[in-house]
Amino acid sequence: MDASRVNVNRAPCALCTTKNKRCPKNCEFAPYFPAEKLGEFESAHKLFGTPNIMKMMRLVSEDENKGMLASSILMEGDAWKKDPVRGGFGIIQKLKWQIELRKLYLNELKEKIKVEKEKTELRL
Ligand SMILES: [Zn+2]
Repeated sequence: MDASRVNVNRAPCALCTTKNKRCPKNCEFAPYFPAEKLGEFESAHKLFGTPNIMKMMRLVSEDENKGMLASSILMEGDAWKKDPVRGGFGIIQKLKWQIELRKLYLNELKEKIKVEKEKTELRL
């Protein structure tokens, strides 16, 4: 085996660990799925399957887009782990609901300010 191709400076990436294979020094997935992301990657692996994640990553050409795709894959995996029924859609629904509640609260505050301003103007 060529020793220069074996990774000696860092832990094997999450993808190679999941596939139970050696992580080469120049592993194409290591920058996007470092060892620290193993837990998140395992969730994504359960959702998409590692071969599909590899296919998706290889379809994207630019590094910047690969980074965004890797983040999306990890976030989706995490979302489905937390909410096995609604996944990412559940998170969006929850955030929309929180926005609506805050809009209602903001309108309530605006109305109180308006009433107080009117009271102040009447006293002047
Ligand atoms: Zn690797």
